[in-house]
Amino acid sequence: MEIPFLSAVKDSLELLEEFQEGVWIADDRGRIVFANRALARLIGRDGPEGLSGRPWREMFPADEAARFTRLRPEAGAGTVTESSILASDNRQIPVTVAIFPRTVDEDTWHVGSVLPAIASKPRAETASRQVMDNSVDGICVVEDGRVVYANRRFEEMTGYTASQVSHLGLDRLVPQKDRATVAQVFSDARKVLAPVRHEIRVVNRSGHEFECELRIVPTESNSRTVLLCFLRDVSELRQAERMRTDFIAMVSHDLRTPLAAIKEAMSLLSETAASRLEERQRRYLSIAREEIDRLNRMIDNLVEVSRMDAGRVVLRLDAVDLPELLSTAIESLSLLVSKRDLIIERNIPSRLPPVIGDRDRLLRVFNNLLDNAIKYTPRGGTIRVDIGLVDPGAKVLTEKEILTNTGYVKVTIADDGPGIPAEFLDRIFGKFERVDPHGPGIGLGLAIVRSIIDMHHGKVWAESKLGEGARFSFILPIKEDA
Ligand code: ADP
Repeated sequence: MEIPFLSAVKDSLELLEEFQEGVWIADDRGRIVFANRALARLIGRDGPEGLSGRPWREMFPADEAARFTRLRPEAGAGTVTESSILASDNRQIPVTVAIFPRTVDEDTWHVGSVLPAIASKPRAETASRQVMDNSVDGICVVEDGRVVYANRRFEEMTGYTASQVSHLGLDRLVPQKDRATVAQVFSDARKVLAPVRHEIRVVNRSGHEFECELRIVPTESNSRTVLLCFLRDVSELRQAERMRTDFIAMVSHDLRTPLAAIKEAMSLLSETAASRLEERQRRYLSIAREEIDRLNRMIDNLVEVSRMDAGRVVLRLDAVDLPELLSTAIESLSLLVSKRDLIIERNIPSRLPPVIGDRDRLLRVFNNLLDNAIKYTPRGGTIRVDIGLVDPGAKVLTEKEILTNTGYVKVTIADDGPGIPAEFLDRIFGKFERVDPHGPGIGLGLAIVRSIIDMHHGKVWAESKLGEGARFSFILPIKEDA
């Protein structure tokens, strides 16, 4: 069918196909009678044919189409506004829209055009540039191994201007011995296309070295990988951590000696004077000994945490018999167990291979988990300890960091206590994390447990339903050639 208005503008239509703007013409019922290729491209269609006959309003979110009508105060005035157009996958693309009515031979036509809102991009770019320039982190952008931008803070930290860094290369900012490692970090970020984090030492222009946290965020730009590098000076933080660690180590060490002497004196007293003491006095002595043991366990945990923080934990690996270790731990906590009339049930197969581990550290794992179970189980309650081989099909064996081609032993310690709220099940393994901040303890026991188990390539986790007790499980790799 020959449409008079269209035939009148036929030559112009061919011209419209050349436009970068998306253009359409609609009849007085609002149906599209012409759309150019740029419009089809913009909204993600193969060609303009599918748009023909469709209401032009469908191309916009409903409230926006209604707004265009409101914006047109009088016929013939037209509308130009910032809006967004709906792509075929329902994405909203920001555009500038112009819609003009045209009357030809008493018929009204609507001519519309949309231009992707690139006009707003420079504004966004200026804003992000300002954010980068004023960031407290040093920021540089690396493209094809070359520094193409460095912010003010980066210049302050390194002592080089952006163009000097770009000229010298990032290598210059890292001590010679660390260069290979840092190059690997950059290459990893490029390969995995995911943010990576690493602590590095940076040497500034005057040769001063300081500790920095380097975060690399890879992004794609024009199908090239661009690396955004954030550098944060953490030397003061690390210095404060070292001081805290040294302080804890020193105080703990100095507390241990008098505590050992007090404990010895208490033991002597209970042995030599037992027959002459009244029941009440004997109870006081027993409470004092328990509290000394508790203090000792706390100090042990503090020392262990300060060692872990300082990266000074070296495992002494050997074949370890977990049931034997469990007996030792129960023995050392027996005073507490009997005082609270608790029952410890053990369910252990008669033949179990040893695991590979550091005996003292694994004993600490048992001590910390049992100590908690004892603390939270009500008087007269039961603690169940299960030890057994892990089923090779168990889900836990497919998790990250779990060694393949080796069997595992699993230990579960379950108690009758109040249980742990779901949102705390993972959090409590963090340092100083406690469900009740006013409850007993300092929140280090489980952090140590997780750190030790991780070092053994195992895994530890907690399960619980509030009011139905808590279950702590860990798995450890078997010593294969045992
Ligand atoms: P601490 O016992 O010194 O507070 P932990 O790291 O051993 O430190 O435990 C952290 C927290 O986890 C505890 O404060 C407690 O809130 C919770 N928790 C640990 N074990 C249990 C348990 N068996 N039952 C209930 N809550 C527990």
